[in-house]
Amino acid sequence: MRLTNYFLPVLRETPAEAQIASHRLMLRAGMIRQASAGIYSWLPLGFKVLRRLEQIVHEEQQRAGHIPLLMPTLQSADLWRESGRYDDYGEEMLRITDRQGREMLYGPTNEELITDIFRSAVGSYRDLPVTLYHIQWKFRDEMRPRFGVMRGREFLMKDGYNFDLTKEDALHAYNRHMVTYIRTYERMGLKAIPMRADSGPIGGDYTHEFLVLAPTGESEVFYDRAVTDLTLGNREIDFADREAVREICDTWTAPYARTDETHDAAVFEVVPEERRVVGRGIEVGQIFYFGTEYSEPMKAVVVNEAGERVPVHMGSHGIGVSRLVGALIEANHDDRGIIWPEGVTPFHVGIVNLKQGDGEADAACEALYSGLKARGLDPLYDDRDERAGGKFATMDLIGLPWRITVGPRGLKNGVVELTSRRTGESEEMSPEAAIDRCAQIYAGL
Ligand code: ATP
Ligand code: MG
Repeated sequence: MRLTNYFLPVLRETPAEAQIASHRLMLRAGMIRQASAGIYSWLPLGFKVLRRLEQIVHEEQQRAGHIPLLMPTLQSADLWRESGRYDDYGEEMLRITDRQGREMLYGPTNEELITDIFRSAVGSYRDLPVTLYHIQWKFRDEMRPRFGVMRGREFLMKDGYNFDLTKEDALHAYNRHMVTYIRTYERMGLKAIPMRADSGPIGGDYTHEFLVLAPTGESEVFYDRAVTDLTLGNREIDFADREAVREICDTWTAPYARTDETHDAAVFEVVPEERRVVGRGIEVGQIFYFGTEYSEPMKAVVVNEAGERVPVHMGSHGIGVSRLVGALIEANHDDRGIIWPEGVTPFHVGIVNLKQGDGEADAACEALYSGLKARGLDPLYDDRDERAGGKFATMDLIGLPWRITVGPRGLKNGVVELTSRRTGESEEMSPEAAIDRCAQIYAGL
């Protein structure tokens, strides 16, 4: 993309309403624009990141055999009456009446709708297990929408639902989700720690929240530092192998890591003092096994091998896709702007032409631009007729991980400069070498 052809409305001023870095930077970098309280338009740069996160979520869900579909945002109130949640949900639910007087709602989550889809189609244990998911907008009329997309009213969530014959099968689905989530966040360049969370009235150990450590997080967290050293990496995982999947979960859940809701000071004390950390975190996902809580009232039953009709065991699993954009920035920025991890950056490389209009500089930039594209990369070429300082400031603000700077002086020696946004280190090399290096950096991402 050439910047003169793009739509990147960056702000010079720091918006007064933004209290945290990610909100400020998303507004300044022209990623979002508030439409009304807690509701945002995603401008081209922000939309690109959002789409990239969706793509990673899809790939990791499908790697584990989970099946994508798409349910609507508007749902019928009747389904929610069946589960008993229509009245329980309270003020957070946006309720709507259509012209026929039918009661509708803008879905805050989808357990009822997916259960209805399931029960209309599945009647036998032979059709199990199945895990369905979608990535769709949700609406929760939050009391205090704040921090930009971190706590919006309309927000994008991946929500997945597993249907299994037995509790044991459903717990395998739970573990599978834990592993896919760990992989998903890692690919985004984030450290998100599964923490034992509050399962509410259902009880049991079967819910974990995933938290990104950040001082601006809304949750207080208590953890053993050892958990932050774990990485899953890009290893092959056989998601059908229950033992293998459980082992990964055991490794990740062995160190103490809890939110304030489940924190137990006595158990925490057992962790060696130098490893005990009390901090803050941003909840970017949650997984849940809830057994037959919805399948019983909503009569989602299958006939088992013995010919009996039994309610299915279910779980639900959510990732806050739009909140993740904010969480990524909270975890990756400095006072000049955003620093995107390579896995999620909106453009792979920025090209800065120091002397727009200079025949040689322009030609070298064009060659870099087409050369990078020929290697499957997506460059952003700042071809504006602007001072170098302004161009650098824009690149630093929008946070592309790599920048190639092209100017007449370097070209005399046959070199351009490749700069890392994260370390600030620059290296001179030929334009061909710069293209090669960028292709290497992004290979396999
Ligand atoms: P919170 O405790 O932050 O209100 P929640 O526990 O109610 O979130 P879940 O029902 O677990 O949310 O939803 C799954 C994920 O959706 C959360 O982990 C979070 O990342 C995201 N999410 C929830 N509410 C919001 C919101 N208002 N704005 C943006 N993302 C949200
Ligand atoms: Mg939650």
